[in-house]
Parts: sequence; C-alpha cells; structure tokens
Amino acid sequence: MSLQGKTAIITGSNSGIGLGIAHEMARAGASVVINSFTDSDEDHALAKSIAEEHGVEARYIKADMSKPDECRALVETAGRCDILINNAGIQHVAPIDQFPTEKWDAIIAINLSSAFHTTAAALPKMRAAGWGRIVNIASAHGLTASPYKSAYIAAKHGIVGLTKTAALETAQEPITANAICPGYVLTPLVEAQIPDTMKEYDMDRETVIKEVMLKRQPSKEFATVEQLGGTAVFLCSDAAAQITGTTISVDGGWTAL
Ligand code: NAD
Repeated sequence: MSLQGKTAIITGSNSGIGLGIAHEMARAGASVVINSFTDSDEDHALAKSIAEEHGVEARYIKADMSKPDECRALVETAGRCDILINNAGIQHVAPIDQFPTEKWDAIIAINLSSAFHTTAAALPKMRAAGWGRIVNIASAHGLTASPYKSAYIAAKHGIVGLTKTAALETAQEPITANAICPGYVLTPLVEAQIPDTMKEYDMDRETVIKEVMLKRQPSKEFATVEQLGGTAVFLCSDAAAQITGTTISVDGGWTAL
C-alpha cells in the first residue's frame, strides 16, 4: 500500500499511537509531519530518525492543539496536507461532580475541537490537490461509555460525529473521512493511569492490567501502535477509497461484547 508522493500530518505524534502511525505512514512512502506542543530537541531528533529509517522527508512542527490558531497554523505551515491524522489526546479521570472545569475544557479542546480546526484548514488543500484522507483517532470510548471519563467519552463520541459529518460533506469528492477506535494500547497515556488504578483497587501492576484494563478486551492483549499505524495506512490506500464515514475498531473485540 504505497503512499508515495503524499504528505501526512499527524497531530500529537511525539509518542504512543501518533508516533506509531508516523512510522507506518513513512514506511508506506509518505512524507510525514510530526507534531506536539513541546518543541524539544528530542522532537526534532524523532523526525530525523523517521526520515533516516524510512528514507522519506520528515519534519517536526510545534503547535499546541488546545489553541485553534495553532491547529490551523500547523496545516498552513506544513504546505501540502494530503493525509490528516487527528490523534492528539489527553485524559483525566474523575466523577462528573468533581471533574475540574479546566480539565473538561482542555480535553474537549485537544481531543475534539482541534480536529475541527485542522479539518477546516486541510479541506481546501485536499480539494486543490484532488485527493484527501482524514483519519481521526477516536476510541472504544467513542462508541461505549464507562464512569469517570466524562470529558474523554464526550470528546470521543464527538469526534465520531465530526468524522461522519466530514464524510458526508466530501462524499462526492475524492476525499474520505474515517475514525479508528482503539481499545487499550500500552502507551504513555495508559501507563499514566496505572499507578492510580493500583491504589484505587489495591492491586499490583500486572493485576491492574489483566483484571481492570484488559477485562473489557476479549483478546486479553493490548493492540500495538504498529497495528494502529497499519490500519491508518489501509484507510489512506486506494483500496479504501469507498470507505468513508465509518469507524474501524482495533479493540480485540471490546465493542463486540
Ligand atoms: P500519548 O500520551 O502517548 O500521546 C498523546 C499525544 O498527544 C502525545 O504525542 C502528546 O504530545 C500529544 N499532545 C497532548 N497534548 C497536546 C497538545 N496540547 N498539543 C499537541 N499535542 C498534544 O497517548 P496515546 O495513547 O498514544 O494517545 C493517542 C490518541 O489515541 C489519543 O487521542 C487517545 O485518546 C487515543 N487512544 C488511546 C488509547 C490507548 O489505549 N492508548 C485508546 C483509545 C484511544
């Protein structure tokens, strides 16, 4: 599945799933733009290592996805935008009546509104190029709910709705918009939840992984960032040209239950 000649922007891609997708896009021959809000030497080194490993152009562009202007500037600065992967995301866990407003606002801004702003900036470029692919990283929590993740679940349900709307607005153009719904993937975002969960349930790390996290995942295995990247490459390939407005679950059976 060759993506040669295409440029892919992956938001929030200096770690975890975004970085995995950047590698798989580059492996398929796309030029990649990786992003975060940090602008560290490590971020630029990551872009360099992707370029060297896959023999493609790879750049790092700083943009804070909580800020509408920076979301749009990311797409403008990148130049081409054939493929847009909206992946940046954060998480906070608390009951609704104790959920800090600033956390709610940040999660909605980064996990949902950023995708609206980048999509708005990318569509004119895709139309001018006569080809485009939008892949939004939602979650099993975009299709199901669980307690204490209200903002995350609202944002992920929202991004599924945004994906379907973008698909309908581009249905008669060579542009598609789809969402990937991962189950649990062992990234820094999930690692950060383990210590609190260990405390809450008085369990060791292995038991938290098995009995709390993978309990909902019938495969009893984490999905990998490479598997997420491969799914994104497929959605950007010609084979997927008629797939639009849908969600693909990469969740070991979670949403089949
Ligand atoms: P991660 O913490 O490794 O990655 C999150 C990325 O978002 C990082 O690159 C970080 O720099 C970036 N980011 C955070 N705030 C940002 C901001 N303000 N501006 C720009 N970038 C910002 O976590 P991950 O698990 O790889 O998460 C990636 C996406 O996958 C998220 O949208 C997450 O909701 C989704 N997801 C993850 C899982 C999982 O189990 N790991 C499951 C379902 C969905």
